[in-house]
Amino acid sequence: MIDVVIAGAGPNGLMLACELALAGVRPLVLERLTEPSPEQRANGLVGQVVRMLDRRGLYERLAAPGAVPGPTPRFLFGAFPLDLHDLPDNPLYTLMVPQRRIEQMLAERAVELGVEIRRGHQVTGLAQGEKSVTVELHGREPIEAAFLVGADGGHSVVRKLSRIAFPGVTRDSSVSRAGHVSVAQQMVGPGGELVVPGFGVVPPFQHLRTEHGLIAWAPFPGGDPLISAVEWGQPAEGEASLDELRDSVGRVLGADLPLGPPTGPGPHVMRRLFGGNTRIADRYRAGRVLLLGDAAHVHSAIGGPGLNLGLQDAVNLGWKLAAELRGHAAEGLLDTYQSERAPVARRVAMHTQAQSVLIQPGGDVTALRELFGELLAQSGVRQHLADLLSGADISYDMGPAGPATGPLVGRWAPDLPALPDLRRLTSTGRPLLLDPSGVLDLGRWAPLVDAVPAPGLDTALLLRPDCYVAWQGRPAGAGRSAGDGLHEALGTWFKAP
Ligand SMILES: Cc1cc2nc3c(=O)[nH]c(=O)nc-3n(C[C@H](O)[C@H](O)[C@H](O)COP(=O)(O)OP(=O)(O)OC[C@H]3O[C@@H](n4cnc5c(N)ncnc54)[C@H](O)[C@@H]3O)c2cc1C
Repeated sequence: MIDVVIAGAGPNGLMLACELALAGVRPLVLERLTEPSPEQRANGLVGQVVRMLDRRGLYERLAAPGAVPGPTPRFLFGAFPLDLHDLPDNPLYTLMVPQRRIEQMLAERAVELGVEIRRGHQVTGLAQGEKSVTVELHGREPIEAAFLVGADGGHSVVRKLSRIAFPGVTRDSSVSRAGHVSVAQQMVGPGGELVVPGFGVVPPFQHLRTEHGLIAWAPFPGGDPLISAVEWGQPAEGEASLDELRDSVGRVLGADLPLGPPTGPGPHVMRRLFGGNTRIADRYRAGRVLLLGDAAHVHSAIGGPGLNLGLQDAVNLGWKLAAELRGHAAEGLLDTYQSERAPVARRVAMHTQAQSVLIQPGGDVTALRELFGELLAQSGVRQHLADLLSGADISYDMGPAGPATGPLVGRWAPDLPALPDLRRLTSTGRPLLLDPSGVLDLGRWAPLVDAVPAPGLDTALLLRPDCYVAWQGRPAGAGRSAGDGLHEALGTWFKAP
């Protein structure tokens, strides 16, 4: 019997495959497409996921040689420029890289770790038993697995077959058109901005709201520029076309912008999307079936939060599912996947819905924006938004080792200047005890956790495999030893061998 079948070789299914393999479980990935999809979706990664990939040694596979992850000095929120350069602690890391490249990298990494990816395998049915789930496939023999993970996208068959409800809202009044184009050289300013006669300046890599809709102009270096226009109440049918895109841009700007076809080698985007869904599965688990990524939640792509959410779902689920299969999961561990990650999805749904309102035309929205713009002058508001967009504000319930026992408990482990090796240490995906004293006793959990002497640290930390702090030591004294609470914290997550 296979330990885990993952339905879907999208980014999230592949990330989960890597995490399971790191933890010693060999999943089987089933993908209905025979070749990777040419569809262009994400243009980049935004938020904690960039640092998480770095902690697994995967950032360097995507970034330019020698590049190190760093926060972006400016971003966007609801078509407002979000100036972050003056924040004392800017957590909003970004990495511009096309989704296809991310998927290719993750597939390569999964194969390196011994994962089998079977393309042309479409999941069509499932039957759950007490100890296994039988996965039915189109035109092939069924496969039996201990667990099935549906990473099969927003229209997830696994979710539907498991009768997991997908409540939320569908809005169908907006139409978003986007395409790679060319424009006359004299229309592009020195900073990449578009200068449109009769309108003015369209800044690069920002959302520009007018009283008629939204424009985004993205002159990617070394490729054709991508332009998109969002309108409300402008129905369309048939194939998306350059003429249609040009007309839409003209209506939003109130001025003609001569757009030509792209001149580079491609692949090129020309698409039209209607409305949007914001939906979250009401359960992430039904028996031996779990949902991951877009199968568990869909929301507007505004600001690009999808992969920050989904890839970190995968990192959260990977070690828990592996522990369950290898017999060292504490009771209820697998259920914390939903209790930890569904609230994060709800925060993403909240801010993407809020942004979707802020970009709409209309006088009442303009009034709301005026107020919002005043609030954005305050650096505390911008810090709040940066924390929200990045996911740096996540704090998980760590049970008895609650936040009262140490300010880092429940939070993502920050970079530790006294431990420059942290990145290499976390790349194994194993839990770590970072111990400045070098004498803390892991007891019966010693085979499961790597103890790392960390003389430069001023506090001991227990890191879960997903880099969240599960316990923080306090100095010994007043009847307390430095390791107080460590074994309770370990027992919250792991059954001692
Ligand atoms: C236009 C657009 C722009 C976006 N921009 C960004 C961005 O800039 N940043 C960002 O972070 N996110 C962005 N997103 C969101 C991001 O693309 C998704 O969140 C991400 O693709 C979800 O990954 P996934 O692995 O969960 O699902 P998917 O990528 O949908 O992958 C699911 C896989 O499952 C396969 N599959 C489906 N059914 C079956 C079956 N029955 N059996 C076997 N295999 C099956 C599919 O073929 C597919 O390969 C964007 C999305 C869109 C649409």
